[in-house]
Amino acid sequence: MKQNDSKTVAIIGAGASGTACFLQLVLKYVLQRPPHPLRILIFEKREHFGEGLAFGTGQEGHLLNTKAGLMGIFPHERMHFVQWMHQSHDRIAQQFPQVSVHPDAYPPRMLFGQYLHEMFSSYCTLAQQEGISVDLIRAEVVDATWTRKNILILETDEGKRHTVDYSILATGNTASNAFGKLRKQANFISSPWPSSRLLHQIADKSARVSIVGSSLTAIDALITLIDNGHRGPISFFSLKGLLPRVQSPTEIPYERKVLTLANVRKSIREKQKPLRFTDLIRMFRSEAESYLEKPIDWLAEEREHRNQLTLLDEDIALATGKQCLLQNILYSLREETYAIWKLLPVDQKLLFLKWMKPYFDINRHAMPVENAIKIQHALRSGQLSIIGNTDDIVWNGHCFVLTTEDGNSSEADFVINASGPTVTVSEMIDQPLLPRMLKKGYIEAHPAGGIKADLESLRVQHSRRKRPSPFYVIGHQLAGLQLDINALWFNVEQADILTDDLLKNLG
Ligand SMILES: Cc1cc2nc3c(=O)[nH]c(=O)nc-3n(C[C@H](O)[C@H](O)[C@H](O)COP(=O)(O)OP(=O)(O)OC[C@H]3O[C@@H](n4cnc5c(N)ncnc54)[C@H](O)[C@@H]3O)c2cc1C
Repeated sequence: MKQNDSKTVAIIGAGASGTACFLQLVLKYVLQRPPHPLRILIFEKREHFGEGLAFGTGQEGHLLNTKAGLMGIFPHERMHFVQWMHQSHDRIAQQFPQVSVHPDAYPPRMLFGQYLHEMFSSYCTLAQQEGISVDLIRAEVVDATWTRKNILILETDEGKRHTVDYSILATGNTASNAFGKLRKQANFISSPWPSSRLLHQIADKSARVSIVGSSLTAIDALITLIDNGHRGPISFFSLKGLLPRVQSPTEIPYERKVLTLANVRKSIREKQKPLRFTDLIRMFRSEAESYLEKPIDWLAEEREHRNQLTLLDEDIALATGKQCLLQNILYSLREETYAIWKLLPVDQKLLFLKWMKPYFDINRHAMPVENAIKIQHALRSGQLSIIGNTDDIVWNGHCFVLTTEDGNSSEADFVINASGPTVTVSEMIDQPLLPRMLKKGYIEAHPAGGIKADLESLRVQHSRRKRPSPFYVIGHQLAGLQLDINALWFNVEQADILTDDLLKNLG
């Protein structure tokens, strides 16, 4: 029940995004002292608050995919995680002796989870000292009701109802909704997380395992198996069969001359036409060619239908040696990607997602060298194979049969679905809250994925509703509008924007 004149804010999901919002909400409340007492309810369906899916995997071999120097949980203080590692040096040296405390390092994600958990706990203490009431509720919010009188009621899976003034949707990564027909098979593992479930289910270390996908999620599943002594054959089974590229241990600054925000805007102004995704490809190519001062054979750069071990060998050599130009260009776009994405009309966003996203992802979400070396060993020893151009999997009563486009079949005792999260709200099978909110017309799907929101405030928007929404949103559910939702630093900066607006409305 609400206290009389207090304002209640719910944060649904205590992963990194929910945590970043919580820290900012408490800090800004302490600084601004609005007239109403503040009550914060934080809902989390997992056991622990603060770490979320990405950083609560429980496997030491699951490394950050982003260098430590970008991982601060406070907006614009990207080095805060590294500073925390320095302060916690003795403890870290005991628990993770191999970890280097360096901005360019890729420490285990579980260490980052500890950092998040610690920040979360210290801000719970601060809130208590400052008279902010914080309730941690270990439950899943499964439904919401927003009445005509503007009352918002959240309902948990335990059937409890909570009345709040505002609610932040920070529900994060969703499960893949692919292979619905196989979901009932006992040996079909619908997600690589939690790792403990994966290991429990695949107790036979010599079993034949096929992992659907070949992205960072699939690599997580592979590393879980290999690090825990799996000896049987493993295959990556995916539509494109492309591995992420390899991150160089130190990022080489690259100054773009052609593909810049200024040039993109100039081109729109001069042509007096909206930006097209082909304009971006042209500028990207021209950027690389002008740097090399010679034309590039772009067909030769294609990675599909090529031997992935040969490509991985080349990538490891590039990452540890003379650097990969195309990757450097994409990494240097980090600060301008969102601004450019906002300039693309919806139809062009859709074209980009269809034709370019897989190639953008393997370059922008590359893997640390340590993981690349593990994969190289697994490929070389023959334990791992990569099968591309297919999603044809059936259960024949004894095992799974996986068939490629050219008719080749292979068998597996277990299939792990690591094909990536869905961004279509109506298909978010593991987050019943969102499809329900969609049906009730509280949220509206964005054609490029996720939902619609005002990007200046992150307040949810619906084209048919005039009343300002009591919902805010951050992270994965903004996939269509923001693209970069897979980067923690980006979500952390969005938490700043969101909480500024929320504090203003708390009055
Ligand atoms: C495997 C993996 C590795 C990654 N590695 C990196 C990395 O190295 N660097 C980087 O910058 N980014 C990384 N990312 C991207 C990462 O997802 C984002 O950076 C960010 O951490 C997302 O946090 P989140 O809180 O939005 O989502 P999540 O981590 O998914 O957290 C959402 C939380 O909400 C809870 N929840 C959901 N629905 C409800 C509900 N209805 N009621 C109650 N609780 C609910 C979930 O249990 C979960 O704890 C990675 C992502 C994945 C999946």
